[in-house]
Amino acid sequence: MKKTNNKGYLEVICGPMFSGKSEELIRRLRRAQIAQQHVLCVKHVLDDRWSVEHIVSHNGSMFKTRPLTNIQDILTLVESSQADVVGIDEAQFFSENLLTIVQALIKLRKRVIIAGLDLDFRGVPFGAMPTLMAISDTVTKLTAICTLCGDEAALSQRLINGSPARHDQAVVLIGAQEAYQARCRGCYQIGS
Ligand code: ADP
Ligand code: ZN
Repeated sequence: MKKTNNKGYLEVICGPMFSGKSEELIRRLRRAQIAQQHVLCVKHVLDDRWSVEHIVSHNGSMFKTRPLTNIQDILTLVESSQADVVGIDEAQFFSENLLTIVQALIKLRKRVIIAGLDLDFRGVPFGAMPTLMAISDTVTKLTAICTLCGDEAALSQRLINGSPARHDQAVVLIGAQEAYQARCRGCYQIGS
């Protein structure tokens, strides 16, 4: 059985919230396991929805995942698990040194699959994601369904206490009463 692609390969899965990025990442990782490859999955610890030790998609599928704050730690984990395939969820939350780490993993001939938001709530490219998309072998850009009109949605609408968030609000706002919806360009709003 062909165990790995043995050249190093980068795949990026991006799109707004609810577009199925985690689902797609889980699907690819499961298929790698069926091919008897060693799989390691990590995510940023900031995303603590439902479960800390798993990725859980909005439709309930799960995959065992190591939560990390410092992406540097992935190198030891990859070594100890002898992973052929490395999944990284919520990649937008990691600092810019994610780029160096991903390049190192590719050099180690790993298949790296990254899932993350391409845009923040303001519609601005998020963290290291745009560069990762540029250096990637493949990019899969998913859409969600607009909560208001049912059209294809490429944006994540942030609501603070029910109102559209203002452009100058922090990208990561811990402790606020906030919610997110998938919206199309027509229905997306910036607060004033
Ligand atoms: P992401 O990782 O991109 O946030 P998930 O993989 O966690 O997305 O969840 C995708 C699932 O969310 C869909 O399969 C669907 O069941 C559910 N869902 C909830 N709201 C929406 C929406 N507005 N558009 C599309 N899917 C949605
Ligand atoms: Zn809409």
